[in-house]
Amino acid sequence: NSLNPNVTAADAAEKQKVWEADRDHFMHPWTDFSTFKETGSMVFTAADGVSIVDADGKRYLDGIGGLWCVNIGYGRKEIAEAVADQICAIPYFSTFGHHTTPPAAKLAAKLADLAPGDLNHVFYGCGGSVANDTAVRLIHFYFNQLGKPTKKQIISRIDGYHGSTYMAMSITGVKFDHVGFDIDQQLVHHISCPNPYRRDPKLSEEEFCRQKVDELEQKILEIGPDKVAAFFAEPILGAGGVIVPPKGYHQATLEVCRKYDVLYVSDEVVTAFGRLGHMFASQDEFGIVPDIITCAKGLTSGYLPLGATIFSDRIYEVISKPQADGAIFTHGFTYSGHPVSCAAALKNIEILEREGVCDHVKDVGTYFEQRIRELGELELVGDVRGRKFMMCLENVADKRTKALLDPRAKVGNRIADACQKRGLIVRPLAHMNILSPTLILTREHVDFIAETLRESILEVTETLREEGFLSH
Ligand code: PLP
Repeated sequence: NSLNPNVTAADAAEKQKVWEADRDHFMHPWTDFSTFKETGSMVFTAADGVSIVDADGKRYLDGIGGLWCVNIGYGRKEIAEAVADQICAIPYFSTFGHHTTPPAAKLAAKLADLAPGDLNHVFYGCGGSVANDTAVRLIHFYFNQLGKPTKKQIISRIDGYHGSTYMAMSITGVKFDHVGFDIDQQLVHHISCPNPYRRDPKLSEEEFCRQKVDELEQKILEIGPDKVAAFFAEPILGAGGVIVPPKGYHQATLEVCRKYDVLYVSDEVVTAFGRLGHMFASQDEFGIVPDIITCAKGLTSGYLPLGATIFSDRIYEVISKPQADGAIFTHGFTYSGHPVSCAAALKNIEILEREGVCDHVKDVGTYFEQRIRELGELELVGDVRGRKFMMCLENVADKRTKALLDPRAKVGNRIADACQKRGLIVRPLAHMNILSPTLILTREHVDFIAETLRESILEVTETLREEGFLSH
């Protein structure tokens, strides 16, 4: 992790130029511009394997896999070659109507093969938000064609994250994400988050589960089953704080949806393509076959943008009947089925399969989970949750009462900074820290992450005590 002696004065000048251009002109996503104007960005210039390298030549273990997405790790020449070959063969052509290219067709067949049940049809966009927006448009079209035009309302959960387009953000239930913005309030309804850590301590986990499932049923009855079209849920709520719902929750919510003819959309933007040790987690990890799965991120391991909305034969049959009013599926994007992104995805899936990445995650991901869980013994860590390579530490002021620290303590940021100093990138999220590394970590990498986090958390605990943020 030492500075690279090969960084020259010309490199330093180039870095300064990039830093200034970025600070002055690149409007970053999800950024507080009041501080960005002063601090600007860290510049990263290289990456390989499990690590990234900054413009000073300092290497960091990437504990967040880019943004829960670089599943196969960095520097895969095979992907570069597949992409280059596709660009030379045919870089782009419209897929509107009756035109296609081999990668788009082959990838759709591959996804149909990997997805559970009768989810055999694939619509492409450029990311997760668009995959969810597409799901909404598809669902509305489906119910219109089915002769149930009142069925339009969407139910999702507080702390669910579904993206940043207008519709996906409206379905998102992370309250912080809505501050200062508007969301659609005609179509979307939020029910509470199935977070076992924050449940009423008088309830057993089973009772808590029942309560959350009943809440979904009550919400459907309150709105009217003839009006509710779909329920959107991540198998593990990711950006809301890696919340694993109680055992049985997924099956029970799916049953409620089936009872009222409500479509179940499983948002697998984070959980698909190996993160939990399966290509898709809905059935293999949680025992459900939803009506629609949305995915992105790990689909190309982040090498190129791509998202997909994978849906059932049942939906396809309805939307593919000749429509009396002449309606066709007027939805799609210039880049739907982009051949270069699809070629990257095909190669990515080939690598995941050939290298047995899911089995690796079942092995080393389980070790990762165990090492991260050990941090739960630290004074500051109230909860450690998640599965395999998707974990979160919730930091608190008092483990017994679960009271939070004063937000001015910025505990998540402090821990992330302390880790960064030691050559590890973790993600701060309010008072929490999230880990979603590449899926190719070795046990030695896992030990480095666990030990670096421990040292960093202990250091931050002492500073917080000195500054009076901890009462004991
Ligand atoms: N759904 C989930 C569960 C996500 O975590 C994300 C992004 O983090 C999205 C949707 C949105 O995906 P994108 O940022 O590719 O639009």
